[in-house]
Amino acid sequence: MWDLLLTDCHAATMTGAEPYGAIRDAAIAIAGGRIAWVGAAKALPQHDARETRPLDGAWVTPGLIDCHTHLVFAGNRAREWELRAKGATYEDIARAGGGILSTVRATREASEDALVQSATGRARAMAHQGVTTLEIKSGYGLDLETESRMLRAAARVGEAAKIRISRSFLGAHALPPEYGDNRKAYVDLVCHEMIPAIAEAGLVDAVDAFCETIAFTPAETERVFAAARAHKLRVRLHAEQLSDQGGAALAAKYHALSADHLEHLSDDGIAALKQSGTVAVVLPCAFYFLRETRKPPIVALRSANVPIAVATDCNPGTSPTASPLMALNMACTLYGLTPEEAITGMTRHAARALGLEAEIGTLEANKSADLAIWAIADPAELAYWIGADLLRGRYLKGRSVHGTKP
Ligand SMILES: [Zn+2]
Repeated sequence: MWDLLLTDCHAATMTGAEPYGAIRDAAIAIAGGRIAWVGAAKALPQHDARETRPLDGAWVTPGLIDCHTHLVFAGNRAREWELRAKGATYEDIARAGGGILSTVRATREASEDALVQSATGRARAMAHQGVTTLEIKSGYGLDLETESRMLRAAARVGEAAKIRISRSFLGAHALPPEYGDNRKAYVDLVCHEMIPAIAEAGLVDAVDAFCETIAFTPAETERVFAAARAHKLRVRLHAEQLSDQGGAALAAKYHALSADHLEHLSDDGIAALKQSGTVAVVLPCAFYFLRETRKPPIVALRSANVPIAVATDCNPGTSPTASPLMALNMACTLYGLTPEEAITGMTRHAARALGLEAEIGTLEANKSADLAIWAIADPAELAYWIGADLLRGRYLKGRSVHGTKP
């Protein structure tokens, strides 16, 4: 007995030979929270279902997966952004107490409940655009207590907004002010105290780092990766955003799940990602907000068959967006992805960037029934509209969590 049969719909399965893996006039059966059957309605096998729900010709896609966010933080940086718009320099802003350390200060002072509350608002905005899985990084605590609080808050945000959460520890995001120039002492803390404690407490799924001239060197990043590996945690990396540090090759060496940003990615970096099967995550909203001009090498990534994922990078400093659909649009307009590539990048390839490709990311039998239901006539519309209200339903593990009745 199936629990639910969705009929009168079209399915963008995001797998198979057809564009978008599209099946027109489809049916989708759900049992035990999983997709039991998906295919053309005319091929539907004889099978009892507890409930049949016609969808009035809507499109069903895998629930969207935002695989790179810094969703949990306190305060915001609108004031700093406004100052910059009025011509303030970075130095002025630093003197006025702005920059990433202002978010660190605010986050350290915030209670877990306050972090949950503010991040849940952003998560709900994403849910209203079809997100069913969200990666959330720590990285605004830079001490064990606050980093742990951020990661506990992230799990609670998932429960409150009915979203599956994948958590990454980003202790190596910035050097905390109390360490002055003592970089080694802070990296020691990340490797010898924070990673072991956070792994032991079961607070994370992966370890991330920011490898950049303004953050951590490749050698420091490698120490973080080695500590992650010692605790059997997969890694991902903020790489090649502002300069070519060889971060992608380092990520590949550690079989990273993903290397993210990649505006300054070299040919050697592309070859390394291809070899290791690491997903290239592009973050066009940060590129836009920073008014960057150098784009990631999409054509070369495409011809090397490196899987490309698209994410919002939601964070208060460089990408204040809770709109995954706008990230899809920007991936197309700013970076030149096709709409199908962009949507694949927020479903199938995003699942792989989280190591969850066996569970989510496509509409296939036995995968979790994490679905988004859309009032559109063509899947490309998901990347086409800006600010439209397209979502008609959302299912997490087979349960309706939005729009339609539970
Ligand atoms: Zn980021």
